[in-house]
Formats: sequence, C-alpha cells, structure tokens
Amino acid sequence: MTTLDIGAAHTQHWIGGAWARSDASGGIDVIDPSTELVLATVPAGTAADAHRAVRAARAAAPGWARTPLAERLRFLERLVRRLEERAEELAETITAEVGAPSLLARRAHVGLATGIAASYLDIAGRFEFERMIGNSLVVREPAGVVATITPWNVPLLLTLQKIVPALMAGCAVVHKPSELTPLNSLLLAEITAECDLPPGVFNVVVGEGPVVGAALTADPGVDLVSFTGSVRAGRQVAQAGAGALKRVHLELGGKSASIVLADADLAQAVRATVDQVCFNSGQACLQWSRLLVPAERQEEAAELAAQAAAGYRPGPPRDPGTDLGPLVSAAALQRVRGYITQGITEGARLVAGGPEPVAGLDTGYYVRPTVFTGVSESMTIAREEIFGPVLSIMSYSDQADAVRIANDTPYGLHGAVWGGDLDRATAVARQIRTGQVDVNGGPFNLLAPFGGYKQSGIGRECGVEGLESFCEIKSMQLPDATSEPVGPRLRGGDDGEGRS
Ligand code: NAD
Repeated sequence: MTTLDIGAAHTQHWIGGAWARSDASGGIDVIDPSTELVLATVPAGTAADAHRAVRAARAAAPGWARTPLAERLRFLERLVRRLEERAEELAETITAEVGAPSLLARRAHVGLATGIAASYLDIAGRFEFERMIGNSLVVREPAGVVATITPWNVPLLLTLQKIVPALMAGCAVVHKPSELTPLNSLLLAEITAECDLPPGVFNVVVGEGPVVGAALTADPGVDLVSFTGSVRAGRQVAQAGAGALKRVHLELGGKSASIVLADADLAQAVRATVDQVCFNSGQACLQWSRLLVPAERQEEAAELAAQAAAGYRPGPPRDPGTDLGPLVSAAALQRVRGYITQGITEGARLVAGGPEPVAGLDTGYYVRPTVFTGVSESMTIAREEIFGPVLSIMSYSDQADAVRIANDTPYGLHGAVWGGDLDRATAVARQIRTGQVDVNGGPFNLLAPFGGYKQSGIGRECGVEGLESFCEIKSMQLPDATSEPVGPRLRGGDDGEGRS
C-alpha cells in the first residue's frame, strides 16, 4: 500500500489559479500498477472543461507576456527551489502512478526534470529575444496560448520540458497530462501557485486524449500545440491542428538502433544497451530496442545480453532491491507480452525472458526482461515500438549494411554507435537519420536539442531550441538614414523601380 496522501483538492482540474470542478459526471480511476489498486479518481474532463481552461489562459496571457523576463526568471528560481523541496513527494507520486522504482523516480524522473527546469535559468537569461539585422529590429515574442499534451512514461520531466520554456517565452499554458498519470501534474499545479505564478498562466485539465486533448487542439484560443506521445495520436493532433493551420510540435515514438562496430568493446556495448533497454521498464521513447552486431559476433552478443538481462530484478517499486518496476497498465502488459509471443511465432530465438508471468509476482503488471537474437528486418519485433524491456539482436555484414538496417525504419528519434575509433564511430553516427545519437556511451546532455526525424516528430525540445519553439518572430524595419535598404522600397503606386 502506498503512504501517499492524495488530497481531495488534487483530484480536480486546476483552472485560473484554483481547483475547479469538472462538468463531467464520470471519473477516471488512477491505478497503482504494482498493486492494481485505485490510487485516486480524477474527473473524466469534458470539452467544456478544456475550453474553460483556454479562456482562463487567454485572459492571463497578455499580462504574462508583458511581465519582464527578470520577473519570469524569479518565478523559475522559486519553482526550481520548490521542486527540490518537494522532490520526495513528487517521486512518491510517480512511483505510485507510473510504478517507477523509488531510486529511479527520485533521480531520473524528478532529479532530471528539475535539472531541465533549472537549465532554463541560464538559457532564458542569455536568450537573444531581440537583435538588429541591418535596419530591422527582430524580436521573439511569446507564441500565445500553448496546449501541452503529454504521455505517462516520464510524466513530470516531459511536462517541465514543455511548460518551463513556454513560460519563459511568455506563453500561458493549458496542460493535459496522460489520463494514466495525472497526479504529478496536479501536484505541479499546486507548486506553481506556491511560487506565485499569476492565476491562469498555468492550467491543468485532466481527461481522455480524444476528449480533452482533441478539444484543446481544435480550440481557436490555442495558438500552439506541443504534443508528446504515440505516432497514432500525434497524427490525429496534426490533422486537427491543420484545420486551423495551428502550429503543432510533435515528439513521437522510436525504434532506435545501437550499432556495435567490429572494433568496439562488445561486452561494454551490450551491457550498456541492455541497461538502456531496461530503463524505466523499457518504457522510454529513446530506447535502443535493436542491437546491431557483426554477424560473426552475434552468438557472443546474445550470451552477454542474456546474462545482463538475467541480472535484472523485477519487483515492487518501493522495494530497495528492485531495479525493474511494473509496466504502467494491464493493457501495456498485454501488449508487451503479445509482442514477445509474436517474436517467438515469427522465428526469433528467445535467449532471456519470455511472455510468462514473473515468478512470485502475482499482483502488478510485471514483465520479464526479454532478449531475442536472430531477429530479421521483416519481423514485427524489429519494426514496431514495443515500449517494454525487450531487445532484438540483429546481425549485419559490413558497416554500410549496419547503417542501412539502422535507418530502415519509419522512426528517427535516437540511437547509439560503439567503436574502438571515436572518429570512425562518429562518422557512422553522422549517417544515422535520427535526432540524437550517443557515441561510445556519451551521457545525456539536457542542453542538447532533443527530437525526431521522420515519424518520430516535428520540432525540438530542450536547450535553446526548446525555448525558440515557443516564440513567434517579428521583424520591424526601422528608418535608417545611413544605409541603403535591402530590396526595393515600395510606395503606393510605385514598385520601387520607377514603374507604377
Ligand atoms: P498516447 O499517444 O496514447 O498518449 C499521449 C497523450 O496524448 C496522452 O495525454 C493522451 O491522452 C493524449 N491523446 C491521445 N489521443 C489524443 C488525441 N486524439 N488528441 C489529443 N491528445 C490525445 O501515448 P502514450 O501511450 O501515453 O505514450 C507512449 C508513446 O509516447 C510512445 O510512442 C513513446 O515513444 C512516446 N513518447 C515520445 C517521447 C519523445 O520525446 N519523442 C517521449 C516519451 C514518450
């Protein structure tokens, strides 16, 4: 049982700086995936709830846009401090609703999320909101009212990754968290109020994607939609946004490859790949779900990967011995087990894990860390995003073949290259069509832009690019007696060349 105290106030929307009752008659049960018990019931928000929150954001947007940057930065300083002070509570909430082991929740979910928020103190502080280009004053203005829609897998981090740069750009936000994990966002709403964010600048509406998410996307009061989630839902958001030619930013799924070159340290590369595949129980968009090894080393790689996977201990997330928590939901468990069964049926060789329940864990949505070898490019497990701790080992004939296989996917989010020669490994990384590639275990850099090629998304988050995403750009041409204008000077009835 969780010790988490979820107050009644935390189970409503947060609109205009106050807890707000929903128009909805029904509710959504938030389930603890390790106990299968109901943690809380939140409103199944309606389209009317979403529109109400947009109106609150629209009312607050002009004032926040006019607020000097120094004041917006002071809010961010308070936010970072409060996130640190309430880190334990946030981590417990994430453990309860996502199932993330306690240490992972504290370090990766909350620690990294706070780090990303803090990174904008410097980025926004030094951001060039205005510059002169010749006689043009070019200003970056807030995009307006932003709807942020996020998934459940790393919920706080993905939320802060959007809302902090949006707020620093001067935008007002309506946030819709995943219906599976809304509680951390409601806690965040309370924290923003403790930091004296003016009412209406940040709002949270909970509910289902096709209802609340769709209503936000279609609302003419929303200027920009920033979405993270599946390709399926991302496509719907893009289509709905296209009607109003609304700006839509998409962070979607992945099917990334970890390429082990012939001169790499195979043991190090395989160990790191299995660890990355098991991170957050395999529920990570940047997962390296395909391990590409030279054909003659496939057997050795399979043995190493099986050993590494066998070292993982699935278990209750609050147990200090656990390093693999449950999957988020019964549906996720069924989907991941289905993929594992399909891998076996399609002829991949199972060397670790499998679709069977984890021994001794009768309650909770646990899956065994699973490794397949002899996976061919046409198999479903090599093509589709599984979103669980499942690794597919594939062989290649030469370096060009490795690059071809890595790029043979509609996705383009992430990847890894391992090699004895850093320059050569980096040259291979340049050929991978993804938004990020780690070379020889280069660590995550929260200042580097993150996002996808191809169907993995449109736009970038994190770093300077993350802030630019929430700005509009205006050029004002000022009279300049000292220089010639670039291009013709047009007057009424005159095309600038003396013709009319
Ligand atoms: P999902 O697409 O089912 O849901 C994501 C969010 O979209 C939820 O809040 C959901 O309610 C909402 N939604 C669903 N349908 C909608 C619609 N028609 N209109 C508006 N909103 C809608 O995804 P999920 O299962 O929550 O998350 C897993 C997916 O997210 C994976 O594909 C994963 O790769 C991806 N993801 C991507 C990144 C990234 O940065 N690229 C990060 C994390 C997760």
